[in-house]
Order: sequence, then structure tokens, then C-alpha cells
Amino acid sequence: MRNDNIAAISTALGAAGVAVIRISGDNPLDIAEKMFVPSTKKAVRDFEPNRMYAGEILADGFSDYGMCVFFRAPASFTGENTVEFHTHGGTAITKGVLKKILSLGARLAENGEFTRRAFLNGKLSLASAEGLIDMINSESAGGVRAGYSLYREKLTREVENMQEVLTAALSQIDADMDFPEEGLEETSREKVCKAVEEVIDKTRSLISTFAAGSRVKNGVKVGIVGKPNTGKSSLLNALLHFERAIVSDVAGTTRDVVEGNADIKGVRFLFSDTAGIRESEDKIENMGVALSRRVLEESDVLLFVMDASDITEEDRKIKKLIKDKNVITVINKSDKNSVTDERADVYVSALTGENIDAVKDALYERAVGSETDLNGDYLCEERHYRALIRAEKSLEEAQAGVKTLPLDLVATDIKSGWDALGEISGKTASEDIIDDIFSRFCVGK
Ligand code: GDP
Repeated sequence: MRNDNIAAISTALGAAGVAVIRISGDNPLDIAEKMFVPSTKKAVRDFEPNRMYAGEILADGFSDYGMCVFFRAPASFTGENTVEFHTHGGTAITKGVLKKILSLGARLAENGEFTRRAFLNGKLSLASAEGLIDMINSESAGGVRAGYSLYREKLTREVENMQEVLTAALSQIDADMDFPEEGLEETSREKVCKAVEEVIDKTRSLISTFAAGSRVKNGVKVGIVGKPNTGKSSLLNALLHFERAIVSDVAGTTRDVVEGNADIKGVRFLFSDTAGIRESEDKIENMGVALSRRVLEESDVLLFVMDASDITEEDRKIKKLIKDKNVITVINKSDKNSVTDERADVYVSALTGENIDAVKDALYERAVGSETDLNGDYLCEERHYRALIRAEKSLEEAQAGVKTLPLDLVATDIKSGWDALGEISGKTASEDIIDDIFSRFCVGK
């Protein structure tokens, strides 16, 4: 195992109150004692773990006054001896401190190398490391929650429980093959069958949470469609609470796709307002039409806007065009006209703001579902989803063969399912998968 000292600036570069530069490896204190002068009499070598010491940090060409803390292996993030310098935040300060550390023998850490070492030292699973990246990169409360649940090993624990059930089934098969006795095989097959079914059920229930979970993590793409002048831009503005789209009563004014984000119950919704879907002679508007088609294809949910005072054949045509999509039909301008229409899901007035919350509720319900507990168990990573699909497939094969096929063949399928589940925690993940995951980290994490 590599235990050389690696170092990096762990906070974002820029002017800030404080910044953290850390060193992890066999002997980071050797470096610290050459560049830190404690204000107390305690020598750096004798620092108590997990305690902050104030003092002078001797950097490259200048000094800063800050703190130094030592974490003793294995009780550190990486599982190795670690030293952190807490300096004043500033690009020149942090770079100067790092430069000094490197001149004293540490090597600059690669992307995600601290977390990779934590993984290799058994401090966290691969899914937990992914949760950590998700949290760091997230811009919504829902995204942070999804990442946090992975980071705290909720999914890993569940998957490991499923693996244990399969391990027991495999031992059963082993025992049966080692000591074949009259009548025993029948009970053995029943036990194995039950175990496989139990794990298939859990696998399926996790798989079923992926659509909502990935939206919680990545955000929900919403396209606003409808013929010109129905109030799409006004609705977008009302949803975003600020003037973003151009509102005009000349039909076809919204020529480009206008985008904006809004947070609904902690989940990020990314709205695209489109030009009307109708064909147009106008070249620029035609570009907008092409963009609308892209929005149609890419959106998770469509808000189809009709004007209460002007429902026509054109609306019917658009409705037909999007009939296979996940559509919420909004009748706008309810302040002007109180028509009812069996196609409507929500009646609003983008102008007065009346019922805008009902549009938000409908969006959340369609995209995430009120059943999805943001603090509960759900899948949010594509990689985990794919691993579970593979596990499900192998276990279904085991299930199909368990009554009739030789048990060693059934065992092979169960083992494949076990391996697929192990990719989630990282126990059976290939070096390539591991490389790919840690390359997504920034330097310093
Ligand atoms: P778009 O072409 O679909 O994006 O429509 P706009 O948002 O540009 O709105 C077209 C016109 O309808 C503008 O004059 C808006 O002020 C008006 N409008 C939009 N929403 C409402 C509403 O809820 N009530 C009323 N009375 N007028 C609205």
C-alpha cells in the first residue's frame, strides 16, 4: 500500500476567512514540525490527536498565523496519519503553504486521492465515496440528502444484507453437494429458492426508486410548451419569481429557449420555455421551433399551457403531438376567463400568481411523487442502478433453474448476482470503475 505523504489545498481557491491544506501519509508530522511554530510549549511531534494548536505557519516566502491539527491513523478521514493547516483563505497564502509542504517532501495529491486512500483503507465504500462527490457537487437540498444517504452507507448496508442472504444460499448448496443425502436436496432447493426470491424482491424495490431518485439528485427537466401567446413566458416568470423570459403580446416573441431553475420542496427543477411548436416562416423563430423539439425530447415533464380565453384547434394538435409524454395541462389566464376543460390538470393565472403553487405541487408529484421520502432509501446513481439490473437478471436465472437444474449451475448464477451487488460497495468493482469514480473528484478531496 502506498503511504507516501500526499498534500493538497482542500478548500476552494479564492479570498475567504479560512482555508485548509492537508497532508496524509505515514509521517506528515515530520513535515509539520519543519514549518509550524506552536504558540504553546508543546512540540509538534507531541501534538495530541484531534486538537487544534495555534502558531506560526512558515510558508514559501512568508508566514501566516493559523492552526495545525493532527489526526492519528486509523482515526482520520483517509485512515492514515493526517495533518491539517488552517490558514487564512487566499490564493497566494494557500499556494505558498502548499509549495512549502511539497518542498519538504510531500507529493501533490491526485484528484480524489484522499478519498481513494480512505476507500483502500476500508474507511468508506465506493458508494459512500460517490455520495460524497454528489454532495459536494449538489446545488439543491434534495441532491445533498441523496448524496448524504449514500455517504453514510445506507445503500451499502442494504446491499451487504442482500449479499449475506445469497452467501447463506451458496453455503447451503455447498453443504448439499459435499454431503448428498437422501431427501435433503429437496429442502435445500426450497431454502435456496426462498433466499433468491427475497433478494430479487429487494433488488426490484430498489430499482423502482431510481427514476425519482435520479431526479432528486440531478434535477427535473421541465419543458413549457403551447401555442404562442398562451402565457408560457409569464408562467415561467411566475414559477421563477423574477423577470427572466421576455413577455410580449405579439405571437411568437419567445424565439429562443429561455431557461431557469427553481427549487420545489428541496428538488431542483430546470425549466425551458419554448417558442410555439407551430411551423413558422420566420427564420429566427424556426430556430426556436427546432429548439422546442429538442426540449420535447429531453424533458422529464412537459407543462402544456393553454389560454382559457382562446382554446382552439391548434391546442388540440399540440396536445396530440405530445400525447406520449409526461404532460401536465395548465389552463392559464383564469383571471380573464373561467372556462373548464376536461383536459386541464391545473387552472392558473400567471398574471396574478393565482394557483402557481398548485402547478408546483403537480410538478413535484409527477416528477418525484409524494411517496418518495427524501430521507428514505432510493437509488440515485446510474452505476448502482445498472449493477442492480445485472444482479436481478442473474438471480432471475438462478430462480428459473432452482427447481430443476443441477445446483452447481444455480450457484454460478447466484454468485454472478452476488458479484453485481458487490460492485456497489466496491468489493467486486474493477480498477477501471474505481479510477473513473475518483477521477471525478477535485484535487484536495
Ligand atoms: P407566450 O407567448 O406563451 O410566452 O406568452 P407570454 O407570456 O408572452 O404572454 C402573452 C400575453 O398574455 C402577454 O400580454 C401577457 O401579459 C398575457 N398573459 C400571460 N399570462 C396571463 C394571465 O394569466 N392572465 C392574463 N389576463 N394575461 C396573461
